[in-house]
Amino acid sequence: MNVTDLRARLLAWYDQNARDLPWRVGPGDHAAGVRADPYRVWLSEVMLQQTTVPHATPYFLSFTRRWPTVGDLAAVEDGELMAAWAGLGYYARARNLLACARAVARDHGGVFPDTEEGLRALPGVGAYTAAAVAAIAFDRAANVVDGNVERVMSRLFAVEEPMPDSKPALKAHAGALIDAHRPRDCAQALMDLGATVCKPKSPLCDRCPLSMHCAAFARGDQDSFPRKTKRAARPRRFGIAYVLTKGDAVALVRRPDKGLLGGMLGLPTSDWTSAPPPGLPGAPTTADWRDMGEIEHVFTHFSLTLRVLRAEGQAADVVWTDRAGLAALPSVFLKAARIAL
Ligand code: SF4
Repeated sequence: MNVTDLRARLLAWYDQNARDLPWRVGPGDHAAGVRADPYRVWLSEVMLQQTTVPHATPYFLSFTRRWPTVGDLAAVEDGELMAAWAGLGYYARARNLLACARAVARDHGGVFPDTEEGLRALPGVGAYTAAAVAAIAFDRAANVVDGNVERVMSRLFAVEEPMPDSKPALKAHAGALIDAHRPRDCAQALMDLGATVCKPKSPLCDRCPLSMHCAAFARGDQDSFPRKTKRAARPRRFGIAYVLTKGDAVALVRRPDKGLLGGMLGLPTSDWTSAPPPGLPGAPTTADWRDMGEIEHVFTHFSLTLRVLRAEGQAADVVWTDRAGLAALPSVFLKAARIAL
């Protein structure tokens, strides 16, 4: 494969087809001397690790409107940040986001380190985020490999080894493509190609600048990459959620800091166990509980069946919220509240 030609084609395609994203400085503006704000790049990368561009964009716009600098974000109360993050999933990431903002503000004078190693040393910044910020914000020759880039590499080189074992090989292929003069654009070009052309299903090979170099395209079996091993079925857990009302108010509890949805407000629940729990474990009070049905929710590592019970009454150690306040709850609790109210 002629890597020089491949890079040239990729960058020429990017110059014409780069996605217009609110955190991005496009190739035209970059050529004119505009530079990306590392804070915005970092924030977008953290958000995009767990959701899509259309879903993350309103959150990104809201966050940067409320907290235009990393110093502003560092000063936010934990609870306020958690509420703003609701709907983006993985609350551990929100906690890491805050820890990182505070470290940048406190230890680095509000300026992000400009190397991959320096970024990696920040709390909660993993290898991928460090590489992405180093490349996109600071034009470092970092190897930025997300799921999109892995897919492109698996097809370009027709990598037969199944995921996830093939990850190191895919990363090595991507690393060999980094352009020493335009590493930033090269990283974003590969991301964009994966997101808009080399899609998971039915890649648009007729629009692909790399098709003449693509081994899977030459064989006509591009849809079959990346190869996958059969995934073990997600385990199922069961639990009970309690919707306790007092007039229009609904009782919430703050979840323990550690663990799933840690630190978030939620409905009182039982523990989530491998079989439906007998009795009413975790009920916030003794009351005339009525069965409102079940909801299903899928977390990364398990599926949850939650029986939803409702009662009117009083309880200690709860936080009362009005119905509008429920909108900020993690979606599993929002679902449960919706079938009960
Ligand atoms: Fe992906 Fe098709 Fe391009 Fe190959 S030719 S990299 S399969 S879009």
